[in-house]
Amino acid sequence: MKEHADIVIIGAGISGSVIAERYASIGKRVLLIEKRDHIGGNCFDYVDRNGILVSKYGAHLFHTNDETVWEYVNRFAEWYPWEHKVLARVDDKTVPVPVNITTVNTLLGENIQTEEQMKDWLEANRVKIDSPANGEEAVLNKIGEYLYEKMFKYYTVKQWDKYPAELDASVLERIPVRTNFEDRYFTDKYQALPKGGYTHLFKKMLDHPRIEVLLNTDYFDVKDEFSDCEKLFYTGPIDRFFDFRHSLQEKLEYRSINFVTETIDQEYFQENSVINYPGKEVGYTRIIEYKHFGNQKSEKTTVVKEYTTDEGEPYYPVPNKKNREIYEMYEREADKLKDIYFVGRLANYKYFNMDQAFKNALDLFDKLEKEENK
Ligand code: UDP
Repeated sequence: MKEHADIVIIGAGISGSVIAERYASIGKRVLLIEKRDHIGGNCFDYVDRNGILVSKYGAHLFHTNDETVWEYVNRFAEWYPWEHKVLARVDDKTVPVPVNITTVNTLLGENIQTEEQMKDWLEANRVKIDSPANGEEAVLNKIGEYLYEKMFKYYTVKQWDKYPAELDASVLERIPVRTNFEDRYFTDKYQALPKGGYTHLFKKMLDHPRIEVLLNTDYFDVKDEFSDCEKLFYTGPIDRFFDFRHSLQEKLEYRSINFVTETIDQEYFQENSVINYPGKEVGYTRIIEYKHFGNQKSEKTTVVKEYTTDEGEPYYPVPNKKNREIYEMYEREADKLKDIYFVGRLANYKYFNMDQAFKNALDLFDKLEKEENK
């Protein structure tokens, strides 16, 4: 088969590509094995038949406060500033997400004008809970019953097939509450998109004479051929690595997304890249119109409705106590293995943002190299 590789990596998403690039840069021969027919993991994007750059697995908005990560990603792409905004259709109204002054004024007919008034409104309407134990308590504690019902409860049921009370507080705490008119989704120092798309960035990362990429290859079909490498990095679902051995009673849960794509023969379909539908009246969670990202031009437009499902490729771990306990059984097994490392959203069973995935992989490489050179 292939020439001998020092480092074998399974999965060509963020984590796998960072590890590959880093080891190649210090002279190691790297083999990257990918089940899909493309690199880039869920960041993979391409120009579609309408001439619009679209993401195959949902929109990816890069944002970070981490200087190291920002410096690193800038080695492989030019980035242009892009401040993401999200709107939600609630009943017959359209409001900003995260909740800000405009959201409250529009949905509740208030006339809040200042940060102070907004803080007072929140204080009067929130349900005070000392240490929120789950997603429902976290949201109620911040914004109260009405906005919880209208904007979080059913969106979460559609997204996770669980009520917020069945999820860790951290899931819902991803969405802050603004006490001003700030309508950006993120407030990080760096918010940007790579010129030409993410796939180009990954191509550049992996464009190295010491990196070989094997697409369309399921590691589990070929794994016996790679037992003599120095180190193996696995970025797939951790339970799959162990042949689901702890899944007899309870399976580790993941959520997938069914993307329903349509071409619409008009210039724009909606006024913003992402519009959330937090209500019960439709089955999808959001509609993405890709041409808004980077203000792309085309006579037609591509829109994608996202339906979250149990079936299909795993995208999201489902953060709650039960899954954490199952994950920890696998993690204990993983820790016992020598020279095999688990990295990324699926292998670490963590809801990482993109920058955290970069950071985590960079840190793992640095740690291992430090140990190696002791
Ligand atoms: N969420 C919600 N309503 C919204 C947006 C988010 O209830 O309009 C909740 C939902 O549970 C979601 C979580 O907040 O899964 C995190 O949202 P985020 O936008 O970070 O999800 P991602 O973009 O990673 O799918």
